Amino acid sequence: MTKRDYYEILEVQRNASEAEIKKAYRKMALKYHPDKNQGDKGAEEKFKEAAEAYEVLSDPDKRERYNRYGHEGVRGQGGGMSMDDIFSHFGDIFGSAFGGGFGGFSGFGDGARRRVNRGSNLRVKVKLTLEEIAVGVEKKIKVNKYVKCEACTGSGAQNGSAYSTCGTCHGTGQVTRVTNTFLGQMQTTSTCPTCGGEGRLITQKCTSCGGDGIVKDEEIISINIPAGVADRMQLSVSGKGNAGARGGINGDLIIIIEEKEHEELVRDGNNLIFEKYISFPEAALGCQIEVPTLEGKARITLEPGVQSGKVLRLKAKGLPSIDRYGKGDLLITLNVWTPESLTKEEKRIMEELSQSLSFTPKPSKGQKNFFSRMREYFQ
Ligand SMILES: [Zn+2]
Ligand SMILES: [Zn+2]
Repeated sequence: MTKRDYYEILEVQRNASEAEIKKAYRKMALKYHPDKNQGDKGAEEKFKEAAEAYEVLSDPDKRERYNRYGHEGVRGQGGGMSMDDIFSHFGDIFGSAFGGGFGGFSGFGDGARRRVNRGSNLRVKVKLTLEEIAVGVEKKIKVNKYVKCEACTGSGAQNGSAYSTCGTCHGTGQVTRVTNTFLGQMQTTSTCPTCGGEGRLITQKCTSCGGDGIVKDEEIISINIPAGVADRMQLSVSGKGNAGARGGINGDLIIIIEEKEHEELVRDGNNLIFEKYISFPEAALGCQIEVPTLEGKARITLEPGVQSGKVLRLKAKGLPSIDRYGKGDLLITLNVWTPESLTKEEKRIMEELSQSLSFTPKPSKGQKNFFSRMREYFQ
């Protein structure tokens, strides 16, 4: 998923003032506010996107970094904020429009402020082969999760209107307590314990869901996993988590990537490493070797006299990087296999060969050992 330009998201010029940015964000946030767009996933995405853009552009330091380096400069900043995070960060920005600063509270038409339930996030592990990681893959996964109860359309009430205003908080969802202290009266406001902040009580609970408005069910979700992901990486699919109780907002689905071990190739970042053993005669006389790649076998000709420890590089036969910039290589390290036991005849030939001058090791200055070669490759 490529990120949109933050200025573009908020529809402001690159030289916009702080006040202009705040105003633009407020406009976007109100336009895509979840209360106005109940159940509209597209709007929720836009709402989150705007919050992320504002998070960066409202901070002079982050904005400066973003201007210089783009999204890369502010990686890990703001992105992936949940709805609750957004309300607690920027709740004040909605202030006048929704009747006073609310955090995670939603304005209803009757003027009361009630809590919006948010479903919890779901975490699912997905196992992928290197072949799948190389090209990206669509996976269909079965998840057990809370979904909206069909019987009561998620309200939790048996027949739609079976609600009564909470007597404890009179529908506000909050209770205020006044305590006398030696400093004077202290007023504390907290979530109403009777209705849990929702402001209303169900008089007749739905028999299918017991009043929660959600039921456990199985759902098959198809997810597109981009090429280049790595073990333990997490992808978040917005709104695909558990449904929120009584008409709340859905949580997210968090995909945790697990990489299946490849039989022959070892991953190192975006590079792949293959250890190839050849016999001493093959090294001395030259040979053809077969190398596994993620797209099938490759044949490589080795010149006579190849040394153990040599590293061959197959350009761009590794894995793509997740941000789509470039591709890793496939590195083949050659090892000459020394026989561990010899027949009498082989032993005789070896002894004869060892008398020959060309069998005395004489590494030239240009030849480096395995470790210094590897160090160069990975620098
Ligand atoms: Zn129900
Ligand atoms: Zn209450």
